Amino acid sequence: PEDPIQDHRPRLLIMGQRRSGKSSIQKVVFHKMPANETLFLEATNKIVKEDITSFIDFQVWDFPGQINYFDAPYDANMIFGDYGALIFVIDAQDDYIEALNRLHHTVTRAYKVNPDLSFEVFIHKVDALSDEYKIDTQRDIQQRITDELADHDLEHVHLNFYLTSIYDHSIFEAFSKVIQKLIPQLPTLENLLNILCANSGIEKAFLFDVNSKIYIATDSSPVDMQSYEICSDMIDVIVDISEIYGRTNSYRDESYDDPSQIDANGSSGNYETANDASSLIKLNNGTILCLRGVNRFLALVCLLRADNFEKHGLIDYNFQCFKEAIAEVFELKRRNAERAKHERMGLI
Ligand code: GDP
Repeated sequence: PEDPIQDHRPRLLIMGQRRSGKSSIQKVVFHKMPANETLFLEATNKIVKEDITSFIDFQVWDFPGQINYFDAPYDANMIFGDYGALIFVIDAQDDYIEALNRLHHTVTRAYKVNPDLSFEVFIHKVDALSDEYKIDTQRDIQQRITDELADHDLEHVHLNFYLTSIYDHSIFEAFSKVIQKLIPQLPTLENLLNILCANSGIEKAFLFDVNSKIYIATDSSPVDMQSYEICSDMIDVIVDISEIYGRTNSYRDESYDDPSQIDANGSSGNYETANDASSLIKLNNGTILCLRGVNRFLALVCLLRADNFEKHGLIDYNFQCFKEAIAEVFELKRRNAERAKHERMGLI
């Protein structure tokens, strides 16, 4: 709170009706809770504001469904004023008419306060729906809300829709897309990944936030769900193995630039990659899965053909260059933030 930069972090707001799945999403994505254990979560009755210390610092604001956050004492400017995204969760297994009213009301009010907010609709719990029914539901929801907004002269407000479930990777995929929009360095990261892939014979590369398994960038070849799933599963395997066999102090690296984050992270028991973490898995179809630690939060996971891995000296060298480039990108970000802070304080 003393740090003015902290108040300018991109913010994720999670909203939706009671029992739509907000707490479950948060637990599964950010706290590694197994999906079936969410059955026993208690309903949220207050605004839960949680800082998540991860590669980007974002906040999850869990609003219990029944609170009308536009009434006093909730200050709409305070809630929606910051740069960030509003995630609205709709339970697709339930009657969603009431949820759509709520969504419309929320978007209208939030847009007035902050037209730059991105609006993301999670059509959630779709695990129980057939593929055909999923598409129909999405079409129906999209149509109704678009019509409703158009009736109120708000057709220019753009909403994004995702079909999600905590029982598969779809929730991580959706979060990845939402968060990528909040990362100003995204084009640079994608560019670096493209260069890395082109020069190392890599087929697909994801830059993951290890704690949440959200990928914050990937190269520009199309993402297929299977490659994403296998890369994300690899992170689980490596985290499990290093929790059992790894040296705990190897997660601590002298190059940390922000000691306050170490405390925050250490106490929440989150995993951090060692900068030099490295792992290789050969699949029986001749593909290699390769993981490299990039910094304390990020890891690179790549898929490549085994014969391309023969020149792995070159690949190692390219990884090293990539890692240095990433460090530079974020060093620049830190320096800019510091500069902005000094400017605000009138020091320069
Ligand atoms: P909240 O009140 O919005 O925070 O809702 P909860 O997170 O407490 O979730 C309500 C119920 O929905 C729980 O019993 C969850 O297990 C269930 N749930 C959450 N996400 C999913 C999902 O993706 N699929 C299914 N089938 N159930 C879900």
